[in-house]
Amino acid sequence: MNLTKGAEEIRPGLWRLFEPLGERLLSFYALRHEDGWVLFDAGVPGSLTSRLRQGVWSGDIRKAIISHADADHLGDVASLKQQYPEMVVACHQADRAWVEDHDRLVQERYGHAKNRFGHCYPPEVMSALRQMCGDHCVVDCELNEGDQIDGADQAWCVLHTPGHSPGHVCLWCAETGELLLGDAVLGYGPPDATGKPSMPPTHQYIADYLKTLQRLVELSVSTAMPCHWEPMSGDMFTEFLRQSRETVYRDLGLLHDFIRAQGQASFSELLLVLNRSWGTWGEADYAHYSYALDGYLDYLSNQGCVEISDNGLVVRT
Ligand SMILES: [Zn+2]
Repeated sequence: MNLTKGAEEIRPGLWRLFEPLGERLLSFYALRHEDGWVLFDAGVPGSLTSRLRQGVWSGDIRKAIISHADADHLGDVASLKQQYPEMVVACHQADRAWVEDHDRLVQERYGHAKNRFGHCYPPEVMSALRQMCGDHCVVDCELNEGDQIDGADQAWCVLHTPGHSPGHVCLWCAETGELLLGDAVLGYGPPDATGKPSMPPTHQYIADYLKTLQRLVELSVSTAMPCHWEPMSGDMFTEFLRQSRETVYRDLGLLHDFIRAQGQASFSELLLVLNRSWGTWGEADYAHYSYALDGYLDYLSNQGCVEISDNGLVVRT
């Protein structure tokens, strides 16, 4: 996988901008608009504004569609808005509060397992994540399932694809079969330059994620364009969906069996079980499995397989 900084024209009117994010890839997309560009995601602080400053990218940014509330998808929005005050910022209602208020994003999304399980990133990681969000921003427009993107030179339609976040959206062009995927599908976890998963997959809302995977299987996708993988053909995407689904059931099975055998387990113990079973990444990335683990425990508890005690222990029922 190519981890340099650059841009490629996928076809006239559709560009992918990419750069390294640590050992991983970060991509976001630009669609030609009748008088400028519509962005699908906005990278980290400086991702696009530095290109504009250096003159390696140009044109008016008319709209920034934020696929979901994560620092590496919205970090440059506030600076872009300063440069283009008319730019419309859009996201789904279910992620809106986090897209607008980055202190809440960090506390509630990145600190999601703190209250229930006492698990959290170290303070220095939380503050690095907060910095990566850039300044707060205002959302001008909410996106809903089925909305068309005004002004884009092709009919792009919004798909609500929750699972990684509650308000995740993809853009779908039925005419060409192109799908701008964001982080809706996470396979075995985002790869490093060699293609090996470099961190755990961060799906979290498991029932929604499984529905989203099923829904995407039913689309006739010619090219899927994720943020942390290079664009993939329809066949590769079908395999990617299969791997993503397999990951969920593999993890659920492992947790279920472990809790059955032990009777009870702590969140940190289960986090280690998942990481040690599948991790091709270093211990520094273990904490990222907390999103999926949190979601798996909700899923298993809704199925009546486990209970979460008041002190955060996961107990066999
Ligand atoms: Zn994300």
